[in-house]
Order: sequence, then C-alpha cells, then structure tokens
Amino acid sequence: MDFNLNEDQIAFRDAARAFAEKSMAPHAARWDKEHTFPVDVLREAGEMGFMGMYTPESLGGMGLSRLDTSVIVEELAAACPSTAAYITIHNMVSWMVASFASDDLRQDVVPRLASGEWLGSYCLTEPGAGSDAASLRTRAVRDGDSYVLNGSKMFISGAGGTDILVVMARTGEADSGARGISTFVVPAGADGISYGKNEEKMGWHSQPTRLVTFEDVRIPAANRVGEEGEGFAIAMKALDGGRLNIATCSLGGAQSALLRARNYLHERQQFGKPLATFQALQFKLADMATNLVAARQMVRLGAFKLDSGDPEATLHCAMAKRFATDTCFEVVNEALQLHGGYGYIQEYPVERLLRDLRVHQILEGTNEIMRLIVARRVLEDGVAEAIQ
Ligand SMILES: Cc1cc2nc3c(=O)[nH]c(=O)nc-3n(C[C@H](O)[C@H](O)[C@H](O)COP(=O)(O)OP(=O)(O)OC[C@H]3O[C@@H](n4cnc5c(N)ncnc54)[C@H](O)[C@@H]3O)c2cc1C
Repeated sequence: MDFNLNEDQIAFRDAARAFAEKSMAPHAARWDKEHTFPVDVLREAGEMGFMGMYTPESLGGMGLSRLDTSVIVEELAAACPSTAAYITIHNMVSWMVASFASDDLRQDVVPRLASGEWLGSYCLTEPGAGSDAASLRTRAVRDGDSYVLNGSKMFISGAGGTDILVVMARTGEADSGARGISTFVVPAGADGISYGKNEEKMGWHSQPTRLVTFEDVRIPAANRVGEEGEGFAIAMKALDGGRLNIATCSLGGAQSALLRARNYLHERQQFGKPLATFQALQFKLADMATNLVAARQMVRLGAFKLDSGDPEATLHCAMAKRFATDTCFEVVNEALQLHGGYGYIQEYPVERLLRDLRVHQILEGTNEIMRLIVARRVLEDGVAEAIQ
C-alpha cells in the first residue's frame, strides 16, 4: 500500500492548481454574484484535458484513473466548487457515451465533449422521480429509425448552456421499473425541447439549473446508448464515479476553507493577541484537518476500488460520498465560525464555499440514499470482508 501521490499525480495536481489559481479563483466570486456560466473557462479547461479526464485517449480524453481525476478535481474545487462540479458532471456524460455508445456515435460525440467544444448535461431526475429515479416517466417510443421523446427532467445542471443532453427515458411498459429504461444522446437544440427558468439556488451559481421539457422530440435510433433496457444500469454506473467526483469537490472546498481559517487566526487579534494563540480555536483547526484527511482517504479508497473493478466499489463510493460531503460541509461551517462576523460577509469566500458545498449532500443521490445503499450491503452476508 502506498498512500503517497506518484510523480504523475503530483504533476497533474500542480497543473490543475496553476490552472485553477489563474483562470478560476480570481473570478469565482463574480461568477457567483452574477450567476455566470463561464463557458470560455470551460473551453480552456478542455484544452488542459480536464473535460475528458477519465475518457479514453483514443477518443480525445486523458484516459486517467478515478484516483488521478480526484487529484485534479480537488484543485479545481478549491478555487470554485460550483464550476468544478459542473466539469465533473460533464466528465461523467463524456464517460457514459465513450463507454456504452455505438462506435459511430462515440466517434461523433466524445472527442467534441472531451475537448470542451461541446458541453453535456446528465438528465435523470424528474419532477415526480428524484430519489426513486427508477420510477421516471419520460417516454421514448420507437418509430422506425427514430425514437420520439416526451416528458420532463428536473434540476438539470448546465441546461440551457449545454450542447448534448444524455437522457434516461422509459422504453418499456409504464410498470417496467429500472429494467424498462434506456439512455439517449439528445442534441440540446432539437425541435420540441424547451427550457425552464434558471432556478434561483442557494449556491452553485456558476452553473445554470433548469427544467427541460421534451415534446415529441424525434432523435435517430442510433443515438441510443447501450441496448434498450440497459439505461438505468448505465446511469447508476456513471453515478459511482459521479459520487466520488462530487465528494472530491467537497474536499477542495473544505481544504480551501481550512487554509483560509488558519490564515485568519494568525492575522486577527482579540484580547491583545492573535486568535491562533487560543487553544480552543487551535483544537478546532486540529479537528477540521483530521476530519478532512479522513474524508480524503475515503474518497481515494473509493476511487481505488472503482479503478480496480472491485465488486464492492458501489458500496465504497456511497460511503465516501456520504462521509466526505457531510464532513467537509462541517469543516467549512467551522471555518466560517472561526472568521466570526466576517465569515458571514460575502467579501470573504467562506460563505460562498458553504453555500456551494451544501448541495453535495443532496445531489447524485442524497446522503440518505447513500445510507440506504450502505445499509443494504451491511445487512447482507460477507460484509466483514467488504468493509476491510
Ligand atoms: C442544484 C442541483 C443540481 C442538480 N443536477 C442534476 C442533474 O444534473 N441531473 C439530474 O438528473 N439531477 C440533478 N439534480 C437532482 C438531484 O439529484 C435530486 O434533487 C436528488 O436526487 C433528490 O431528489 P429529490 O430532490 O426529488 O428529493 P426526494 O427524492 O423527494 O427526497 C426528499 C427527501 O427525502 C429523502 N428520502 C427519499 N427517499 C428516501 C428513502 N427511501 N429513505 C430515506 N430517505 C429518503 C431524501 O434523502 C430527501 O432528504 C440536481 C439537484 C440540484 C438541487
């Protein structure tokens, strides 16, 4: 077991940090305030390879492991968790098409996604189907060489600013559950697609979130990703990695908040001395650092399990997502507390980090659903080995 980053990972980390400090950090507060989707910076990220990190090199990606990806994403998230999170959703979309689409479709779509020329959205949630995603009702009906889509998707990240929608829709009977769902690549400007307003959110202001409605949207049958009925399994496989990505965005935000709190304790004086001299506050920093490291190790273990095709990868990704997003939110909240009243003021970035990290406990499967996945496995046989 080697817990150190290797030479390549250190190089990825340094390159990502340099990019994040130059192209993201100086603008993050403005993107947050003005609700700007920074498409130009996303294209720059594409030039760096960050829009196709775990997409195969043969399709224009970097072909990295999930562990390598996590090292990069953490650096991007330290600058702007919201923008980094969109980048990870885009990476998930790119990976789905690269892994499961026909050769023609993947050759057509993936290089443009991996370069950042096209941006992607992942469309699973519906107004009536959130945690119970397998109950989704958007329909795709086969008509000759086409499918015709009807229905709507809720809370779609990037929607209105993206070029490709990867849509999970029902091709089976209404009561066919998870087995009746298929996945499709849908051009975002296809006739019959309409977009709702950009939702006014607590955080994640640097990416739009919209309702997407499909009314008799006709797409070529060749745009189906995988076989009919495989769509839900594909969506869930993508989410194993997606959950690690979101957990990693929490790590980056928490690391940034911790360092800012440390600096602040050195600078700020009360009762005639720096706050850093008060042991009660030192102990807070100690717990924050300890909890952050524990969260990071869980994310890296989950990434290792996914990279090595471990049969317990889903369990470890769920545990890592639950633990890291809860723990890192608390780290940021403590960092805000350590800033006193200034922590609550927008001039200091900690309140933005807090607002951005809050949603990580909700999306890509809520943390209650993560507990459900973990509890289900713990109740089965063989759990002792599974969690070792
Ligand atoms: C900013 C934002 C961006 C998003 N981006 C995307 C996107 O790009 N693509 C996409 O497809 N979706 C996206 N989502 C949707 C997100 O994944 C869902 O909001 C999430 O899965 C929860 O679904 P829901 O909101 O319908 O809540 P519900 O499922 O209605 O849950 C409500 C509450 O009940 C709890 N709960 C539900 N069922 C159970 C159970 N069985 N046991 C215990 N507790 C339970 C939940 O944990 C939650 O606390 C986004 C959401 C947000 C807020």
